[in-house]
Amino acid sequence: MPNYIGRFAPSPTGPLHFGSLLTALASWCDARAANGQWLLRIEDVDVVRTQLGAAEQIIRTLEHYGLWWDGEIIYQSQRTECYQAALQQLQQQNDIFWCTCSRADLAQTQSDIYTGHCRAHHQYRSQAAARLRVYKSIVDFDDGVFGHISESVADTVGDFVIFRRDGLFAYHLAVVVDDAEQGITNIVRGADLLNNTSRQIYLQQRLAVTTPAYTHIPLVVNDNGEKLSKQTGARALTWDNPSHCLWQALTLLGQHAPDVLQSEDCATLLTWAINHWQRENIPKRLTL
Ligand SMILES: [Zn+2]
Repeated sequence: MPNYIGRFAPSPTGPLHFGSLLTALASWCDARAANGQWLLRIEDVDVVRTQLGAAEQIIRTLEHYGLWWDGEIIYQSQRTECYQAALQQLQQQNDIFWCTCSRADLAQTQSDIYTGHCRAHHQYRSQAAARLRVYKSIVDFDDGVFGHISESVADTVGDFVIFRRDGLFAYHLAVVVDDAEQGITNIVRGADLLNNTSRQIYLQQRLAVTTPAYTHIPLVVNDNGEKLSKQTGARALTWDNPSHCLWQALTLLGQHAPDVLQSEDCATLLTWAINHWQRENIPKRLTL
């Protein structure tokens, strides 16, 4: 077994944009620089949000940029049995309850923290969501970029949904089950997921699986501090000049890639990136 197993886990809700390429690159470099494996997982557990053809497009883009992965690509949509088994384990441990609150019921409570209204519902009910019982405890972790983080999930979100009323498994459960099963040791992903991490660690603890090391890559913002999006003028990834794009991403990540590399091919640039990768140089704010 390698000491380092990383992964890139995009949701196929659209094509890769520059920000997600940058995250993929950071995750890839971190794994390769450690002589580790880098796995690719398509997070299509939420079939409602999945866009037809997007997964294929993301895969072709990674190939085009030379970000090759190890092993088979995993699709969450094909892993329902594993999530079901985890849900069953949690049910047996009395770690979940069945919530029949409607969207309107939940909207009536002023705070975002679940009130615990349905905690007495131990047995399965149809058309109900399964929520994890979250008890007061502090979740701690050391992020590779953002440093020490501690959170009391009971005070920030409370009992959270791991199986949805519409019959789909929630993202948090799928991610935690997959990371554990794939033996992921290091997660490098976008900082938009930073506030999910404590919940996922809490869930890992309930499932008695190992917590990987986390590094969250700051989101790319423009001069006004706005997150890159079509509205704020984010450029779509160009197909023509991938190594220039990778060079730009590396530079933003605080890696001092020499100018001449811009005109080299992706393989040359990526080899340089592996040999010179310094995670500690990633800035806390990435301004394009
Ligand atoms: Zn409820």
